[in-house]
Amino acid sequence: MVKTEIRKLPDGSVFANLVGKIDEHFDGRDILKAADAARKVSLKMDGVRSISSLGVRALEAFMQALGDREVVLEEISSAMANQATMIPNLLGNATVKAARLPFLCPSCGSEGAFAVPYESGAATAHAPKCPQCGAKMEFDGFSEEYLPH
Ligand SMILES: [Zn+2]
Repeated sequence: MVKTEIRKLPDGSVFANLVGKIDEHFDGRDILKAADAARKVSLKMDGVRSISSLGVRALEAFMQALGDREVVLEEISSAMANQATMIPNLLGNATVKAARLPFLCPSCGSEGAFAVPYESGAATAHAPKCPQCGAKMEFDGFSEEYLPH
């Protein structure tokens, strides 16, 4: 189940923060309602921890329902980034700014999720510095499964 927090911004656009699991019950109806007259919708989705297979269809339908509005995904979670590489149409025409992805420190072993630009090669070009020891962190997994390539 997804919890949504929606704000209408002074420029007439709509911002929504989605947190939780996207499953077959997700329809984004409250966002679509708030965005009725909006030309732009910004979504923060780094709190989406998983997407079920039926949730993928629900998300696809929601992105389509946003129609020709300008859709900006401020930040997506690793679960979403992973689905988006497997299903290229999933995010429709949305512009993805950043993805919050897992990194590991080769020097002290600490791990965490960090936002990197959603672009090819970002996992190395924008690898974060370890907050514990300052070493350059490494991607925890295969970055091509999460970033466009
Ligand atoms: Zn470290």
